[in-house]
Amino acid sequence: TQELFRQSDKMKAVGQMAAGLAHEIRNPLTAIKGFVQLAEMQLPSKSEYFTIIKSEIERIDSITSEMLMLAKPNPSRMKVMDLRGVLKGVSQLLETQAILSNIEIHCRLGEEPGFVLCDENQVKQVFVNLIKNAIEAMKYGGAITVTVCIDRDNAEIVAEVKDEGCGIPEEQIAKIGQPFYTTKEKGTGLGLMVSYKIIENHRGKIEVYSEAGVGTKFRIRLPDAGRQRLNS
Ligand code: ADP
Ligand code: MG
Repeated sequence: TQELFRQSDKMKAVGQMAAGLAHEIRNPLTAIKGFVQLAEMQLPSKSEYFTIIKSEIERIDSITSEMLMLAKPNPSRMKVMDLRGVLKGVSQLLETQAILSNIEIHCRLGEEPGFVLCDENQVKQVFVNLIKNAIEAMKYGGAITVTVCIDRDNAEIVAEVKDEGCGIPEEQIAKIGQPFYTTKEKGTGLGLMVSYKIIENHRGKIEVYSEAGVGTKFRIRLPDAGRQRLNS
């Protein structure tokens, strides 16, 4: 079993630059998309070229949208939320995709609310990334377990996403979260970097426990906002 803690200022510059670049790429890309559509209508005999062009544009599009998430959360979008609700929503969202891969998502969200101060969309994005990776790691099906609990000693809400997939070899663990590190043919290698950045922006931590051939567990720790809520 491997364990990994992230340094809080790692790749700060990379993140800020990436978000800025992504923003600049967005607008021209939208224009290109529109004109490619028009061109395709005029050149129906070249449809095989357009298929490639469109799929490559989609790729740029998914890379830029992942990078855009690197921007700091806007303080006005920060709300105290029950993390259980966020996780329930994300699990439901990915349920169909999971079933198609013969995977069950089990939610063990506990009796007590886990209040965190967060930008809902960004935190959702983190768990979408983690659960998607879990699905993609389980070629032969299996179970994903999603849990939320309160760590009172550390005043943290702890969420876990555990899978029974291929696992991550020990020597690869250090590469997790580095930009463009991917072992997938169609991967971007940005999902985890973005997730680390988002959790860091929320003053949280991500820990990874993995064993090749057995499975992987991602643990997210976020400051408990429950007490803050009672006091205010
Ligand atoms: P991508 O999914 O596009 O490859 P990510 O940043 O989401 O990019 O993940 C980077 C790499 O980390 C993956 O390609 C995979 O090798 C590894 N990885 C992430 N999550 C898991 C997991 N749950 N099980 C096994 N490997 C994983
Ligand atoms: Mg991914």
